[in-house]
Amino acid sequence: MRKLVIASGNAGKLREIARILEPLAITAAPQSDFGVPECPEPHVTFIENCLAKARHASEHTGLPALADDSGICVAALNGAPGVYSARYAGEPKSDARNNEKLIAALVGQANRRAHYYCVMVLVRYGDDPEPLIAEGRWHGEIIDTPRGEGGFGYDPYFLLPQLGKTGAELGEDEKNAISHRGQALRELADKLRRFG
Ligand code: IMP
Repeated sequence: MRKLVIASGNAGKLREIARILEPLAITAAPQSDFGVPECPEPHVTFIENCLAKARHASEHTGLPALADDSGICVAALNGAPGVYSARYAGEPKSDARNNEKLIAALVGQANRRAHYYCVMVLVRYGDDPEPLIAEGRWHGEIIDTPRGEGGFGYDPYFLLPQLGKTGAELGEDEKNAISHRGQALRELADKLRRFG
């Protein structure tokens, strides 16, 4: 059984990641178990921030480390909120204020296309020259009126036109089967099987 440190403290994400890694005989421990201090995320791209987090966790623990980064990119806003998705409306973090700001930014805008993006990076050591990288994109459009009680973040305003449902109207398994995070996790598992 190999051990991997996860550069995240989010319990939901840890559960999802552990479930994917279990059949590969890999155990996942959160970086909080090792007292890893928070890592700065100064970059404007998801991949750069994600790599920084994975390296940081690996350097502090001496273990292979997996980090993820995600957010929503809106076409008419040149990809914003992007890496600032969690804090789009400033501190303290608030989904309600983020959504309010997003809807205000799109007033009068006909182009409603948006996608969630997720990237996962696994480094075997801090200076690993070839990290494993997996990505997912989940396409939809932003609506003005929220629908649904599930999910989190921007989900009630993220409509999937083919399904006629928002992200917040999907069950957990239904969302994981198609979401940006589900896609990235499956690609990561596949790469681990092939190159891990
Ligand atoms: P992080 O990857 O946990 O830092 O998430 C970044 C932010 O992107 C979250 O706080 C949400 O605002 C947004 N986000 C990422 N994935 C989702 C999702 O599946 N649903 C809704 N919002 C999401």
